[in-house]
Amino acid sequence: MANTQRDYYQVLGIARDADGKAIKEAFRDLAMKYHPDRNKAPDAEEKFKEIAEAYAVLSDPKKRAQYDRRGFAGVADFSPEDLFGGIDFGDIFTGMGFGFDVGGGGVFDRLFRQQRQGPAHGQDLEVSLVVPLERINSGGDETVRFTRAVTCPTCSGNGAKPGTKPRSCESCGGSGRRVITRDQKQDKGNIHFQQITVCPDCQGRGSFIDHPCSECQGSGQLEKKESLKVHIPAGLEEATPLRIREHGMPSNQAGGLPGDLYVVVSSAPDSRFERVGADLWRRETVEIADAVLGTRLKVPTLKGEVNVKVPPGTQPDEVLRLRGKGLQQFGGGGHGDLNLRIQVRIPEKLSDEERTLYQQLRSLSQTVKKKRWWK
Ligand SMILES: [Zn+2]
Ligand SMILES: [Zn+2]
Repeated sequence: MANTQRDYYQVLGIARDADGKAIKEAFRDLAMKYHPDRNKAPDAEEKFKEIAEAYAVLSDPKKRAQYDRRGFAGVADFSPEDLFGGIDFGDIFTGMGFGFDVGGGGVFDRLFRQQRQGPAHGQDLEVSLVVPLERINSGGDETVRFTRAVTCPTCSGNGAKPGTKPRSCESCGGSGRRVITRDQKQDKGNIHFQQITVCPDCQGRGSFIDHPCSECQGSGQLEKKESLKVHIPAGLEEATPLRIREHGMPSNQAGGLPGDLYVVVSSAPDSRFERVGADLWRRETVEIADAVLGTRLKVPTLKGEVNVKVPPGTQPDEVLRLRGKGLQQFGGGGHGDLNLRIQVRIPEKLSDEERTLYQQLRSLSQTVKKKRWWK
């Protein structure tokens, strides 16, 4: 919506009881006057948006009724999509001598984006950055390298050799599209057909470049290798995109800002640990006698080895938790844990001596069970 709103009837210069035909005519006349393709005054686009919005509301009986009853509050909840989605701009502008397409997208598209953020931004770019767990833990700067298109500085992006200009396509009025309309007679009145196709003369570009810029071969853009330092916040969650404003693709509209760059940060696969949020997991395998009698293990952490006590009688799959030895929690606070899942190795081959000992162990434990039974 426009920032300072004028009464919609006033905007179109019509009476409050104007009928649909009068509304459409008023809009056509004003659109003719302020269409950004014709009117190069700096405020023409603003004016055009204002009249398009007024027309969008007043041409729809339901929206008009709500506006009549409650003023702007009655239509405040409509998104631009709701407002402009149902309007056939092509129908209104056909035969007016200029394209109903303004710039890149359709009028609606342009209005929609204009209202949100000025001239259309360039496209967003996404690159992935894989960093070691240590970097996730500590946070800090990493360099991301990527290729992006930038506006050609030689031709300022229009693709034409300096001193020359792209020539607007006559057959589509520079819009890149062609509207084919035809009326078909039916029993109950006419059916109005409309088809929008890409302009066959310019292939949708809207213009021709007779003398292409030698630097970009007429594309208006150059590929540029870039490297950028990004700050990784400590504890950043897996696959979180960091948004770096205005480092995406250049806008194809004059004065439009580049899109944003999204750096999707994830942690590198690590043979030592598996990351689950701020926790780290690791398997440790101990011998059967160590599980029974208890032992000590040397375990890697993100900050060097630590000595861990495995208590006697540790069961297979039991988890030993090393508190605070995981990753820094995102957004401050403490650290996650390092969890050790204990595996117990069962020997597959035994020496004679070992077999004898296991057999002794078995008969011993059977005796113990019997004794318990008789007690
Ligand atoms: Zn064309
Ligand atoms: Zn160029």
